[in-house]
Amino acid sequence: MTEPTKYLLDESRLPKYWYNIAADLPVPLPPVLHPGTYQPVGPADLEPLFPLALIQQEMATEREIEIPTPVREIYRLWRPSPLYRARRLEQALGTPARIYYKYEGVSPAGSHKPNTAVAQAFYNKEAGVKRIATETGAGQWGSSLAFAGSLFDMEIQVFMVRVSYQQKPYRRALMETYGATCTASPSMETAAGRAILAKRPEHPGSLGIAISEAVEVAVQRSDTHYALGSVLNHVLLHQTVVGLEALAQLELADDYPDVIVGCTGGGSNFAGIACPFLGEQLRGGRPVRVIAIEPAACPSLTRGQYAYDFGDTAHLTPLTKMYTLGSSFTPPGFHAGGLRYHGMAPLVSHLKTLNLIEARAYHQLSCFEAGVQFARVEGILPAPEANHAIRGAIDEALRCKEEGISRCILFNLCGHGHFDMQAYMDYFAGKLTDQSYDESELAMALAGLPSVPAV
Ligand SMILES: *Cc1c(COP(=O)(O)O)cnc(C)c1O
Repeated sequence: MTEPTKYLLDESRLPKYWYNIAADLPVPLPPVLHPGTYQPVGPADLEPLFPLALIQQEMATEREIEIPTPVREIYRLWRPSPLYRARRLEQALGTPARIYYKYEGVSPAGSHKPNTAVAQAFYNKEAGVKRIATETGAGQWGSSLAFAGSLFDMEIQVFMVRVSYQQKPYRRALMETYGATCTASPSMETAAGRAILAKRPEHPGSLGIAISEAVEVAVQRSDTHYALGSVLNHVLLHQTVVGLEALAQLELADDYPDVIVGCTGGGSNFAGIACPFLGEQLRGGRPVRVIAIEPAACPSLTRGQYAYDFGDTAHLTPLTKMYTLGSSFTPPGFHAGGLRYHGMAPLVSHLKTLNLIEARAYHQLSCFEAGVQFARVEGILPAPEANHAIRGAIDEALRCKEEGISRCILFNLCGHGHFDMQAYMDYFAGKLTDQSYDESELAMALAGLPSVPAV
């Protein structure tokens, strides 16, 4: 009983700054382009959608960006989140590896997403915005923004991908409890939604479509802004609170990661835990292997093309250079709904092209197997998305065992799965299958990439 199981930081050690890796990148990020002119966008182009403070963060190059006091005050409801040493998992695997996980499931919405939702609601409120329209896949982001909206007394309108809307009524109920409204997407409320339903009335929806609907509402209503729960630089920036805390907690443990593992949908929880450590490396500190785990059914980093593409299906968003499967790509309806996006954060994509990170794709059955193994020894029931990170961490730990080397492995347990029990029930009933995307649909979606002149 001498060795600690969890490393807790006092509230006073909650980070005062977010870490901006743009300050330490050896090559700057490619510019974001205007969808009409293909010229780099300026702050004015984004003002219909975002408050100036977030636009500035999107383009910022200073290393530390102060966390506003009201945001820190709210973070204190659940932050600093615990860092656990997964001793029972280590024992079960018989590995010499030291496995740590940062647990973001302690937030009110049950994932890392409130870290940015609270910040985004704060800056919008400060700018006098009354309403925010957004999309949600599995419902994690929608419920996080709904929670943040309730704290700042703002109206939140959520377009929820139709398959998830049907599979996850409790997520919808949580959003409504926080006072938000939730609509299945594609919907009849927007031109983008109506156009898609006219072609395919039973369309299961996708994040790309739901984004189009929310952006359309934000552009058309002067009292409404838009918010995105992943992908953008400012979102990844807010999530660095996770990695900054982990750095301090591992110092308490007198340890430092050799390997960091995270799951990637749009890339925010992954970047949040990894970037502060990559920053140390880029400034001449210890090198670290960083591994992104993505679903084999929606494999943007491992099978996508690094190209300029739209963030949404209706092509309303600016163009960003990223690993993409094409904006018309609709992944199969697998259960890790939060990982069903056609593109990867431009920043994470950039890190990949610089060989600062690696990527792997896993099918869902092996991820659920890892998640169940984890739950049975560590007790926490992970979100299906997080199961990808667990699979990756376990595989790294098993490699340590084969090689007889004790490495330090850190992974982000980005959320709990209490709203995802249907997925677990399907898994135990043998109803989950390893779904593959349609190769010809991927080829078509990639053929439809916009042809952008070299910038
Ligand atoms: C949204 C979500 C993800 C995917 O988003 P990222 O931006 O890649 O982090 C992963 N896990 C959970 C629990 C989520 O809610």
